[in-house]
This record gives sequence, structure tokens and C-alpha cells, in this order.
Amino acid sequence: MNSMYFTEEHELFRESLQEFLKKEVVPHVDKWEKEGTIERFIWKKFGEMGYFGIAYPEQYGGLGLDLFYTVIFLEELQKINSGGFAAAMWAHAYLAMTHLNKEGDERIKQEYLAPSIAGEKIGCLCITEPFGGSDVAGMRTTAVKDGDTYVLNGSKTFITNGVYSDYLVVAAKTNPELGNKGISIFVVDRETTGISSTKLDKLGWRASDTAEIAFDNVVIPAENLMGEEGKGFPYIMQHFALERLVMGVNAHARAAYALEYAIGYMGERQAFGRTIDKFQALRHKVAEMASEVEMCKEFNYSIAKRLDQGDYVVKEASMSKLMSTKIADDVIYHCLQLLGGYGYTEEYPLARMFRDSRLGPIGGGTSEILREIISKMVIDKKEYKPAT
Ligand SMILES: Cc1cc2nc3c(=O)[nH]c(=O)nc-3n(C[C@H](O)[C@H](O)[C@H](O)COP(=O)(O)OP(=O)(O)OC[C@H]3O[C@@H](n4cnc5c(N)ncnc54)[C@H](O)[C@@H]3O)c2cc1C
Repeated sequence: MNSMYFTEEHELFRESLQEFLKKEVVPHVDKWEKEGTIERFIWKKFGEMGYFGIAYPEQYGGLGLDLFYTVIFLEELQKINSGGFAAAMWAHAYLAMTHLNKEGDERIKQEYLAPSIAGEKIGCLCITEPFGGSDVAGMRTTAVKDGDTYVLNGSKTFITNGVYSDYLVVAAKTNPELGNKGISIFVVDRETTGISSTKLDKLGWRASDTAEIAFDNVVIPAENLMGEEGKGFPYIMQHFALERLVMGVNAHARAAYALEYAIGYMGERQAFGRTIDKFQALRHKVAEMASEVEMCKEFNYSIAKRLDQGDYVVKEASMSKLMSTKIADDVIYHCLQLLGGYGYTEEYPLARMFRDSRLGPIGGGTSEILREIISKMVIDKKEYKPAT
């Protein structure tokens, strides 16, 4: 336990979450990975246990706990080794629901946030489009005001929970000529006429339903606009700090898990008459990886602390995701190597971890885009401010 950040209450929460995951999730994971579908009952169970409400206000059924409960939630999800299952859970709780909580009005919170916390409604966040994801301001989906409705047209892609979710948090242009100042955010019911989605076949995250979604003259009530019209871009950017830290924490947790597994394996596997953890070349590699993972973890915890205190840590969260996902990919690559041929088989956890980890430097802002953002802050002294 790192007592600088985690209390005894945090650790009790971690233990009970571990128990829950072992009993309720682990027995089903291989099936969900194979079928690309996560059964509904588990969403309900997560809701009943309060896991979706960790960070949300009590008045909507949440627990209103500090960010280190979220850190524990993310870390433990990585340890069950299904990047897709973990993604489905955190995309719901920390991508879609963050917007409901921050920008939704009271009606939206009652209709969407409360049932999301209860695990009765599943959400997704739709920003990326087929014509380009990195260039968020270049999105083409439009929402045209028509009386007391908006009419949505366009398409989104790579949307986590994009097939099975009950509602969609959608970014669309309400004023295309204004560029990034013309983007707004809406909550849209899945059942609305004109929405269709197609599941994508992916390298990893196989339990998660990543989808391409089309909006064909989708009429939604004007009151489903979240926050102010035209403020969508700053809202998205503001929440990217949390999203990037989430992905940074996920990365250090899966790297730590891979390392722990590989060290255990090395203590059992024999070659040349001794266990392979006695070979200096491998010992030094493990020492280096352990140091890298530890540095990421400590950095991520310190950023979580600052974010929890209300600091706007967009630079540090971008650095967290950039470095943690890079280190996780490298560590998992080498841990797979430590298992020799067994690392390459589905009988052992490293193969899936290797596939799942590859998404880290791509989703939620690619490493190239993060370098671009960080270089603007570090070299050009650009200051990003939170949306007001
Ligand atoms: C499994 C999965 C789940 C996802 N879940 C979601 C989700 O829930 N919601 C959502 O909205 N999106 C989601 N995404 C989308 C993800 O965020 C995008 O894939 C990502 O932002 C990159 O966008 P793109 O794929 O369009 O790549 P592009 O923007 O087309 O980029 C292609 C390449 O060019 C590079 N590049 C682009 N611009 C620059 C530049 N200025 N300088 C240097 N290099 C550049 C990129 O780094 C990348 O290497 C998901 C993606 C995946 C694969």
C-alpha cells in the first residue's frame, strides 16, 4: 500500500473489488472475449455494488468518493486481463458519464446519469469520425436546430460501447462555419429513429463492442443539448485530462500485472539446470522494467492527487498517457518474451495483453497528437485553460 495516497478504507475497497471481480467477472471473461459481447447482468451488478457511482454525487445514487477509488477501480480492472471488458466499464463510467455529470441539466441527470450509476443504462461517447479522429475540430457531423428539436446527420467510428449502449453522448457541429467554436454536445437515446451501428472487428479489446455509427436525420429534443451551444470543444478538451489520466493509470496497472506474472513464471521455468530468474540478462531487464513501471505509477498517482484537488493538469495527464502507454507496450512485449513460446499462446495471459495494450498509444489522443500538445506547452509556453 502506498500510504501517501491510499488509506485503509481505500485498501478495503480494493480487496472487496478484487473478490467481486474474481467471483463475478473472471469466470465469464473468456466467453465475452470470444463473443465480443458483455452480458447485461454484469452491468447491473456493477451498478448494485456502486462501482459506477464511485466518482458521482450521492443525490443521483453515487458515492462521491475521491479519485483514488477510481484509480483502484481502474487498476483492478486491468488485472483481470481483458482490456475490452475494462474499456467497456470505464468508457461508460468515465467518458459518457463525465459529460452527463458536468454538462447535463437536472432532467438529464435524472434520466441518464442516475440509471447509469445504477447500471441500468449504458452509455458511450461519440467524438471520432471516419474522416478523422485526431482533428476533433474537423468533425463533419451536424446538428441543425429546427424549432424545439435538433436534427443530427453524419457518422462516428471506433465508438466503445457503440452497439449495446442505451444512449449516446454525441459531439456535433451546430455552427459548422465557426470551426471548433461551433461544436456542441448532446445526449441521444439509442431508440431514436435514424441511428444505426456496425460492430468493428479489432486486433484486441475483443470483449468490447467498438462500432461505427450513422445518424440519418435523427430528430432529438432541443433540451438534449448539454451545457451551452458551441461549447462542446472546450468541454471535450477539459475532460481529456481525466480520460488521459485514466489511460495512463490503466497502462501502469497492466504493465505491473504483466511484470508480476512474468516474474512468477521465471521462478518456475527451468533452463540449463536452473530457473530462468537466475540469468543475469533477464534479471537486469526485469529490474529496468520494474523501475519504469514504478516511475509511471508514482507520477500517475501524483497527477491523480492534483486532479482530485481541482488542478487543471492537462499537460501532466497528456504526459502520463504518452509515457505510460509507451512503457506498458514495451514492458508487455518483453514480458511475453520472458515466457518464450508460451507467451505466444492463448493459454497464457500475455498474448491477449499484448494485443489489448496496443490500443494505448492510439485511443483517446494518439501519441503523436499528445507530443504535439505537450510541445506547444513546453516549447511555445501555450497555456490551456479549463472551460468556464
Ligand atoms: C478500440 C478503440 C476504441 C475507441 N473508442 C473511442 C470512443 O469511445 N469514442 C471516440 O470518440 N473515439 C474512440 N476511439 C477513437 C480514437 O480516439 C481515435 O482512433 C484516435 O483519436 C485517432 O484518430 P484516427 O483513428 O482517426 O486517426 P487519424 O487522426 O486518422 O491519424 C492517423 C495517424 O496520423 C497521425 N496524425 C494525425 N494528425 C497528426 C499530426 N497533426 N501530427 C502528427 N501525426 C498526426 C496519428 O497520430 C495517427 O498515427 C477508439 C479507437 C479505438 C481503436
